[in-house]
Amino acid sequence: MPVRLVIIGGGPAGNTAATVAATLGADVTLIEREIVGGAAHLRDCIPSKAMIATGGALAELTRAQAMGLTAEGRLDLDSLRLRVASIEDRLHASVCGLLESQGVRIVRGTGVLKGAHTVTAETDHGVEEFEADFIVLATGSRPRVPDFVRIDGERVLTTRQAYPPPEVPEHLVVIGSGVTGVEFTHMFSALGSKVTLVVSRQQVLPYKDPEVAAVLEDAFLRRGVKLLKGARATAIERDGDVVRVACDDGRVAIGSHAVLAVGSIPNSEALGLPDAGVEIDAYGYVPVNHHCQSNVRHVYAAGDLSGRLPLSSVAAMQGRKIAEHLMGLHTREHRHLDYDKAASAIFTDPEIADVGLAEAEAFAEGRKIRVTKVPFSANAKALIEGDPRGFVKILSDPATGVVLGGSIVGRNAAELISVLAVAVTNGLKVADIVDSLLVHPALAESLAEAAS
Ligand SMILES: Cc1cc2nc3c(=O)[nH]c(=O)nc-3n(C[C@H](O)[C@H](O)[C@H](O)COP(=O)(O)OP(=O)(O)OC[C@H]3O[C@@H](n4cnc5c(N)ncnc54)[C@H](O)[C@@H]3O)c2cc1C
Repeated sequence: MPVRLVIIGGGPAGNTAATVAATLGADVTLIEREIVGGAAHLRDCIPSKAMIATGGALAELTRAQAMGLTAEGRLDLDSLRLRVASIEDRLHASVCGLLESQGVRIVRGTGVLKGAHTVTAETDHGVEEFEADFIVLATGSRPRVPDFVRIDGERVLTTRQAYPPPEVPEHLVVIGSGVTGVEFTHMFSALGSKVTLVVSRQQVLPYKDPEVAAVLEDAFLRRGVKLLKGARATAIERDGDVVRVACDDGRVAIGSHAVLAVGSIPNSEALGLPDAGVEIDAYGYVPVNHHCQSNVRHVYAAGDLSGRLPLSSVAAMQGRKIAEHLMGLHTREHRHLDYDKAASAIFTDPEIADVGLAEAEAFAEGRKIRVTKVPFSANAKALIEGDPRGFVKILSDPATGVVLGGSIVGRNAAELISVLAVAVTNGLKVADIVDSLLVHPALAESLAEAAS
């Protein structure tokens, strides 16, 4: 009899676990209550990037003018809404197609644990019950809304209500300056809104390299974004068309709209976890070991629910590793997921991407590292493209030359970081990058230069 696997949640974590396990011969049931493909993935990650791309196209028109072309752009919110919806539809259809082609049974409903090996799905047609040898919990997360805020979906918004909002805000107050907050700041300022960013610390992106954060702050200031640094929002009030965000230092940011970008909370509260003996931590996440197993070893947790790096890429990789582990593939060539080596990107202008060890972290640990930094201003392709902003920074071990990490700020940083991600994951040396015959002219040549 094949291994019976039941998965709750069809985002990148759940659907990847489903596809890989089915390919390896498991009998897989996937229960999803909202959208196969993932609520956070298809209703946050993807639409935010789609809107950023639209803002980028507007900026390209301005750049085209500087390159001798005449062009003008006007934002059409209805077309943008259709574009975002059609991307969601296509990705949803492609995930469903892949799951169905592998024989995964998709159940549309809400999954709940009813015991250590039993899951029910509440569907429109009643309750179905499934017995499982293994269970994967992949229910994701949703935007966090602090107690002092009343979201109205019109002018006081969560991120998920903003793709796009009912109208382009005249003046948007963004609360939170982590990755989502700065992406929203970039997105709406590119689409023509005036933006005030409430930054609770002394720099945006508090956990990133200060040099990287400084480039972004500079870009924001040049575009007229107002930064309220060292200010924590404590109240949001709407009065007609005006939204007031009061901060703990007495300042008040006034805008036409406000969006909250203050993190997310896991979808773990109504899952029946106690019925299966699965523990959660103080924040509601399901703690997992390096195989993504919960304290109940045949119940795995993945994606945002596992409280590890909240990224679609990480969620999908966890799903893959879980499927391989429960199907017994971990004995062969199985590498544990090393979260410290995950590449990540911030889709601002300029783009920011990094991987592996950060310079500040290395110095704090007193580690001896070699740091090389090369600006794009000397790169032929960057000059040809008319955008020589930013730099490549590579951190390596001075004794062995092994690449430990790196940051890239500039055009296509999210693509270029892949080279460093492959190097960091596989223990390649700076010489391996230098000796690669790269394309000319290309932005990637700056990677070889920084490696040499
Ligand atoms: C604004 C924003 C931008 C982002 N941008 C990026 C980015 O650029 N790159 C990146 O890598 N990541 C990005 N992320 C993070 C990424 O979206 C998440 O890390 C990823 O979607 C997590 O995948 P998941 O499978 O855990 O959760 P999800 O994608 O949310 O999928 C979980 C699914 O479980 C379902 N579910 C929940 N409870 C139940 C239940 N009881 N029964 C049945 N189904 C249930 C939900 O409906 C949902 O579809 C972004 C996040 C946000 C908020």
